[in-house]
Amino acid sequence: MDVASINPILPDGQPKETKSLVEESLAKLVKSIVAEENHHTEHEKDEPFLVADMGEVYRQHDRWKRCLPRVTPFYAVKCNPDKEVLRLLALLGTGFDCSSRKEMDMVLNLGVEPEQIIYAQPCKHSSHLRFARRHGIRKMTFDGEDELYKIKELYPGARLLLRIATDDSSSRCPFSAKFGAPLDTTHFLLRIARDLDLDIVGVSFHIGSGATDPKLFVKALQDSLTVFEQARDCGYTPNLLDVGGGFSVESFDAMSQILREALDRHFPSNVHVIAEPGRYFAATAFTVACKIIARREILKEGGEPHFMLTLNDGVYGSFMDCYLSHWERQPRILQCASKEVLSRAIRYTIWGPTCDGIDRIVENATLDRLLGVGDWLFFPDMGAYSLCLSTSFNGFSSERTVHYIASEPAARALLDYEAIEGSDI
Ligand code: PLP
Repeated sequence: MDVASINPILPDGQPKETKSLVEESLAKLVKSIVAEENHHTEHEKDEPFLVADMGEVYRQHDRWKRCLPRVTPFYAVKCNPDKEVLRLLALLGTGFDCSSRKEMDMVLNLGVEPEQIIYAQPCKHSSHLRFARRHGIRKMTFDGEDELYKIKELYPGARLLLRIATDDSSSRCPFSAKFGAPLDTTHFLLRIARDLDLDIVGVSFHIGSGATDPKLFVKALQDSLTVFEQARDCGYTPNLLDVGGGFSVESFDAMSQILREALDRHFPSNVHVIAEPGRYFAATAFTVACKIIARREILKEGGEPHFMLTLNDGVYGSFMDCYLSHWERQPRILQCASKEVLSRAIRYTIWGPTCDGIDRIVENATLDRLLGVGDWLFFPDMGAYSLCLSTSFNGFSSERTVHYIASEPAARALLDYEAIEGSDI
């Protein structure tokens, strides 16, 4: 990936408001692309690109510390393993939730201590488990009997958290059909762990990604308390609670308040609490810019204008999560040849570039300009489960150029962005 640095500080030394800074950066980048195209270069620059604002990650971390001071975040690397995001979070002192050898390796290579990593994958490859052992990554989750035998054989010194099933019905991406021990099996599993002389240190759960009902934390905490008691009954002294991910940017204040109060009600202060937020840190930091590569008008009864637009990015690229979680993203206009603002908005259906009929980003977008081939759109809040799910289906590249900015001077200073060569803005 191409790392570009943009100076986010205004001449008077004041940091810019993040949204305007991102939009200004997008505009500059598109301008330079369009200028090149006008010179008819051999390789048209019609690939999608992203602008990533590390200031947003910094502020989300700050907000977390204020709202959930008792809970240590272990960032879910799977959500967006972008090197700059990982680097900033490591500098800020978060832990990391890793699911595979590669994720553990990436985080270790940043100098993160093994104690700051949780191997939060209840179904582990044996080779990845051996890797965790070699590097002293002891914290890990399990939710079934056979996993205990595997761990006994390959890493008997591991510190185990029993992942329990939760009600994840309010989430966009539920997990409980696949992960989490039902409550009527947990005592049994703990007794097996005791018989195998394994170390149980606590409980973990996940209320589902993109969760909307914060009250589900309360039920999950009550269930965790039950499992803590069962663990004590088996002779353990559990002191670690992992409340998983599922934190949304929009409802974080309400969510964190409910979680904070429930934690204080149910768990004494000697219980160490961690979480595995992914979306919360990554979502708002990345904006995707896409070019319109084709247009077709649909003639409907009633004569309302309706166009189909095809972009250079789609469901098999940055928008896979939008498809999987039925979450349509509304575009905004970045660059449009027509300057006329229409009094009546036009309806657009927006597609990705592949030949697959499911490659639809938005069914109904209404925008107040007549858009055409060569114009650019942008989609904010695209940092979660976007780049990491991008494929090269149909021969379209899964690689994306990311241009990094830092609207927060503290983040910029931490990342030492001025030392990065190659600013193209
Ligand atoms: N922890 C685990 C075990 C997960 O599987 C996931 C998402 O898949 C997360 C944390 C992150 O969830 P979110 O991005 O909703 O915070």
